Amino acid sequence: MIPTIQASPAETYDIELEHSLLQANAKIADENRSVLDRHGITAIDFMGAIGSGKTTLITCLVERLKSKLGVAVFNGDATTAEDAEQIHKQGVPIVQIATVNGCHLDANLITKAIKQIDLQKISLILIENIGNLICPAEFPLGSKARVVVVSVTEGPWMVKKHPHMFLGASIVVINKIDLAQAMGVNPGQLTLDVHKLKPDIKVIHTSCKSGQGIDEVATSLLAL
Ligand code: MG
Ligand code: ZN
Repeated sequence: MIPTIQASPAETYDIELEHSLLQANAKIADENRSVLDRHGITAIDFMGAIGSGKTTLITCLVERLKSKLGVAVFNGDATTAEDAEQIHKQGVPIVQIATVNGCHLDANLITKAIKQIDLQKISLILIENIGNLICPAEFPLGSKARVVVVSVTEGPWMVKKHPHMFLGASIVVINKIDLAQAMGVNPGQLTLDVHKLKPDIKVIHTSCKSGQGIDEVATSLLAL
């Protein structure tokens, strides 16, 4: 038996503060959603760990979708602009959301980002959340659905270790599938782990390098 200590909530005040913070966020998320709905815009929140390939996946999706409909991207990034610059090359409207070391996007930041784009010209917004598999799950943004991106390079336990994140997802992308053998990770087992949590989540295996699965993700987003 391995000795374990568990973090305990320090003070009641903290719990109350966190509770009202989450409530306030949820209310703003609902407002974002109704603004987007009124304009016929679908927003999708992409979540996943640092290095799971969110930016490259979004870039590939934008490349395929931009000729079909008006796409915009909100790129959450703690400190740098490299990701936003990569997507910007696709020539679609993009808003970078610098969280200044904040570890998740929140609904208020999305309210501000929405004001930066011409809503008449857009019908799909892809939101790249901060690379983090814990707290983004607690902060709805007003998106219609969530995509969780997990890469085989993160090892075999990512799904089992972060059930909360996956439970909130409509689509799970198992990315960098071309590296599965080199990593000794079985993507089929990751798929089983997802379906054990929630049988109706759509799981798509992708490689942005070979293009495998990207069309299926694009089609699935349009069907949401
Ligand atoms: Mg990124
Ligand atoms: Zn956070």
